[in-house]
Amino acid sequence: MDTPAEKADVIERRLADLRTELDMQMDTFIGYPCAGDFDYDALQPFLRYPLNNVGDPFSDSSYRIGTRAIEREVLAWFAALNHIPEKEYWGYVTTGGTEGNMHGMYTARELLPDGIAYYSEATHYSAIKIMRVLGLRHITIRAQPDGAMDCDDLYETLRIHRDVPPIIFANVGTTMTEGIDDIPRIKAMLDELAIASFYVHVDAAFSGMILPFCDDPPKYDFRCGIDSIAISGHKFIGTPFPCGVALVQRRHVGHIARSIEYIGARDTTLTGSRSGLAPLFLWYVIHKLGHDGFRRRVAGCQELARYAVECFLATGVEAWRNPLSLTVVFPAPPAELQRKWQLAVQDGVAHFITVPPINKARVDAFIADYLVACSRT
Ligand SMILES: *Cc1c(COP(=O)(O)O)cnc(C)c1O
Repeated sequence: MDTPAEKADVIERRLADLRTELDMQMDTFIGYPCAGDFDYDALQPFLRYPLNNVGDPFSDSSYRIGTRAIEREVLAWFAALNHIPEKEYWGYVTTGGTEGNMHGMYTARELLPDGIAYYSEATHYSAIKIMRVLGLRHITIRAQPDGAMDCDDLYETLRIHRDVPPIIFANVGTTMTEGIDDIPRIKAMLDELAIASFYVHVDAAFSGMILPFCDDPPKYDFRCGIDSIAISGHKFIGTPFPCGVALVQRRHVGHIARSIEYIGARDTTLTGSRSGLAPLFLWYVIHKLGHDGFRRRVAGCQELARYAVECFLATGVEAWRNPLSLTVVFPAPPAELQRKWQLAVQDGVAHFITVPPINKARVDAFIADYLVACSRT
């Protein structure tokens, strides 16, 4: 048996090794849209409570060690950001984009059990899993080279199936290229086809924290008459664990609510026990940065993305980015470089995303490495 001192030593060494490994990996972290420049040390004291926001954040629970009031403030902030009036929204802080998307599709299926879901081929890989879990009939629509849904293909497909209520799973910022589906045009098409019964969910996992802080962004929020939206917390904002926000039209939630005596709360969320830390971390950063802070952060990241494309083009590499986007798209480099820089590759195309702490020096280092690796093959 190890003595307590030996046990402590083993733990200490293992943790030190893990930190060394993580610090090393952070130096080449460029291929995923998750910011890593945060400082939540002020929240350290809250690690001492068994926080749990179990159930519906808008109904009281007999479990009172949590951050429900803080969570409601976070939701109010996201509701204002997405232009839905105070009395009309419902939502909760989720485990990430996938849960928000699943909640949106769950709500859609409860409202339109016979509906068909439509999403573009550029949609995040989790969509197909969500369709399977919910047993939703679904049709994949072509995507344009920029990643946005091909609206002509959608129109033709909707026309053929106009007797079945459509459930549109729209992208606002696709994973590979930050492509944005044209929500106003999709709404106009539904109108033109005289389809009265439909549901529109927006997957804004990444761009939902970028576009509201740009001048003249494409229209996609509740002003366009969408039904629900999912936004990630651990991507552009940055948190030490995955989290996100789901917002939905409050009038839809009654279909899902069921009173559960055990927790004394309405059972409207996909998960039962929920993180009390996630809302607290989001609340903290929202107050620390504020709208002005996020505007400056977005502008800085866009400037870096613009710089990166310019550098690539100056060396003859055909890189590009969508307007307003932080995602720099370029031909996939050899496998060894993909591994080194933790790049996600699809169909011969790779990307990096200019979220902090990625800076000019990191972009320069990557491009230099890229040119060497590509000249060798
Ligand atoms: C990251 C992402 C998701 C999934 O979000 P998780 O937080 O990883 O569950 C869904 N859609 C898009 C467009 C994403 O970028």
